Amino acid sequence: MKDVRNIIDKLYENHYLSGDELIYLLDNAMNIHVQNYLYAKARETRKKYYGNRVYMRGLVEFTNHCKNNCVYCGIRALNKNVQRYRLSVESIISTCKIGYNLGYRTFVLQGGEDRYYDDEMIVDIVRQLKKQFPDCAITLSIGERTYDAYKKYYEAGADRYLLRHETASRSLYEFLHPNLSFENRIECLWDLKEIGYQVGAGFMVGLPKQTNKNYTEDLLFLKNLNPHMVGIGPFIPHKDTPLANEKGGTLEMTLVLLSIVRLLLPEVLLPATTALGTIDISGREMGLKAGANVVMPNLTPIEVRDKYELYNGKICTGEEAAECRKCIEDRIISAGFTVDMSRGDNVLWNRGDIK
Ligand code: SAH
Repeated sequence: MKDVRNIIDKLYENHYLSGDELIYLLDNAMNIHVQNYLYAKARETRKKYYGNRVYMRGLVEFTNHCKNNCVYCGIRALNKNVQRYRLSVESIISTCKIGYNLGYRTFVLQGGEDRYYDDEMIVDIVRQLKKQFPDCAITLSIGERTYDAYKKYYEAGADRYLLRHETASRSLYEFLHPNLSFENRIECLWDLKEIGYQVGAGFMVGLPKQTNKNYTEDLLFLKNLNPHMVGIGPFIPHKDTPLANEKGGTLEMTLVLLSIVRLLLPEVLLPATTALGTIDISGREMGLKAGANVVMPNLTPIEVRDKYELYNGKICTGEEAAECRKCIEDRIISAGFTVDMSRGDNVLWNRGDIK
């Protein structure tokens, strides 16, 4: 216990650990005393940079069409049981308008890898949103595109981009993503950073064959990339995928990894994800107490919401945007935090041209 505490103290002070130290910490972290110590340090760190504020992001899942076949994902191209949908440009904008009226000042547009939305269309959506809601941040999460495309979206006004690296271990990546290139995924993240976005990377927890050594690679990769945001959630099996019969990620392991990321990257924006809220009814509150400081309530129109089923059992598919906002607000407050509806940029980021 003393050794592990020393390592946590070192991480708290230096925001860095070697690969060996990270493995040692992970190998000894399945212990309630170690976890409580780790979470307390992570909470303290998050408080130093962001106080008790929790930032809200309105999530718009605008298409569930996807050309890829990620073996864990419910909307993979080969899943014929999915009823596919696409929101029109007008519908995306009116969805954000509902969010705006509820107070949201960040919109996250997420979808499968759907080339129906070509570069011109994405640029058009971003332009229109920025024109109508100039005080809002626009985040894209539409997968791998070219450097030039990313640049066009940025120039149109997009502020942030979420692209989880999924796993930093090449062989695991290749097993999970048939026909996709590990190098390309990683290169996209560096490109996005270079262009000037606030960038979000991240990974799933509890994938088949994933070990503490794999997590260590994720943590070291994140430390090196130094993204503005990190999305971490448990893997949850979906019945129509090749991983249907696998075990999912645990609450404990996800919380441990969230708190280590908070300590490695003290200023990072770190969501308590929907997947975490799905595996445990209080998962998101516990995530906030382990160092997370963002939540992403769902704004997707109710008619299509249950069709964006990346994993089974996904929560919040039945409630209108206003109900979702209220529910999550109550949870944040009951966990001892305050809701912050502002854009909520990373404290280190400054885009020259924002007002
Ligand atoms: N097409 C976009 C968005 C993908 S969906 C992209 O490639 O970035 C958003 C995230 O959901 C993924 O990055 C993945 O980490 C997560 N996800 C997908 N299937 C999941 C599952 N079965 N369990 C938990 N998380 C999952």
